[in-house]
Amino acid sequence: MKPAKKSPASKGSSPRSDATAKAAAIVRKGERFLVATHVNPDGDALGSALALAAGLHRSGKSVTVYNADPVPYYLKFLPGSGAVTSRLLPSDRFDAVFVVDCSELARVGKAFLSRLEDFGISVVLDHHARGKRDGDVRCVDAKAAASGVVVHRLLERLGVALTKQIAVNLYVTLATDTGWFRYGNTSAGVLRLAARLVEAGAEPDRISRALQESSPPARLKLLARVLDSLELYEGGTIGLVALTRAMLKETGGTIEMTDDFVEFPRSVASVEAAALLRETPDGWRVSLRSKEAIDVGAVATGLEGGGHIRAAGFTMKGDLATVRARTVAALADALRKSPVYKRKTAC
Ligand code: 5GP
Ligand code: MN
Repeated sequence: MKPAKKSPASKGSSPRSDATAKAAAIVRKGERFLVATHVNPDGDALGSALALAAGLHRSGKSVTVYNADPVPYYLKFLPGSGAVTSRLLPSDRFDAVFVVDCSELARVGKAFLSRLEDFGISVVLDHHARGKRDGDVRCVDAKAAASGVVVHRLLERLGVALTKQIAVNLYVTLATDTGWFRYGNTSAGVLRLAARLVEAGAEPDRISRALQESSPPARLKLLARVLDSLELYEGGTIGLVALTRAMLKETGGTIEMTDDFVEFPRSVASVEAAALLRETPDGWRVSLRSKEAIDVGAVATGLEGGGHIRAAGFTMKGDLATVRARTVAALADALRKSPVYKRKTAC
C-alpha cells in the first residue's frame, strides 16, 4: 500500500503538535489550573493568559490567573481581567500551571518560582526564540507572531469554540505584538486568524479605542518630558529616551503609562535602533526596538535580558549615565557589525 500523502491534517507528528497534544492531554486530565505570565505584563501576555483561562473555564475546569503586577490601566478592558490575582495562597495547589509569553519561568517572579512544586506539571506556551528551556512541556513556536497564536492552537486542539471573550483577548495579543498589524511578523496567517477573531466578536475599532485612546492626562505630560530627553548617537542611527522617577513624581504619572514610549525614538527617520530607559526602584528597565539592521534580542541577551529580533529588554543597576553609556555601546557594536547597516551607510 502506498504511504499516505502528507496532508496538513497529518502533520500531526511534528515536535510542535506533539507538544500541543501533550498540553491538551494535561488539560483533559486535570481539574484545577493556574495560568501565569511575566511581570510588567503587556497585551500579548495578559491576552494570552485570559484567552487560555476562558478556554479552560469553558472546558469545565477551575482556573486561577496570576500576575505579580497589577493589570495596567489600558488592559483593564480585557474580558476576565478583573479576576487576575497577584496573591498566591499557601494552600493553593494545582494539577498544572500554564506559563504564557515567558522565555523563562523566572520572568513570572520570585514568589511564583518559590512555589513551583505546589503547582504540578508546568506547560510553557510561548514564542520567544531564546531563553532557558524551562517547563515540563514546551509549546514554543519562535515563528508565531504572538503567544496568542500558540494559545489559539491549543484551544483548537481542545475543540474549544471561539467565544467573544476569547476572541477579544486573542485579538489584543496579535495587535500588541504586530504593532497593530504593521511589523514584519504580520503574515497572511496572522491576518487570517485576526479575521476569524473578528467573526467571533472581536471589534477592531472598540479594541483600538480601548487600548490607544484611554490615556490619563498625566501620560501626555510624561510623554512631553520623555520626548524632550531624546538623544541621538552614532550618526543618528541610535535614538534614546529616558524616564526618571522624578518625572513620574512631577507629573503624577505611573510607569505603566509609558509602556509604548520606545516607539517615539524609533519613529525618527535616521534611527535604526531605539532605547527607552526607565528608572525603577530595582534599577533601570531598558526597552530596545530595531527597524531592520540589528537583532536587539541578541543585544538584550548579552546584557542578561531577552526578547525578540525587533523588540527586547533588560534590567540594569547603576546611574543613568552608566546605563545609557552601556546601552549605547552595545547597540553601536551590533550596528557596526550589521551588513544591512554597512550597506545603508555606504550609499
Ligand atoms: P518591552 O520592551 O515591551 O518591555 O519588552 C519587549 C520584549 O522583550 C518582550 O518580548 C519582553 O518579554 C522582552 N523583555 C523585556 N525585558 C526583559 C528582561 O528583562 N528579560 C527578558 N528575558 N526578556 C525581556
Ligand atoms: Mn509576546
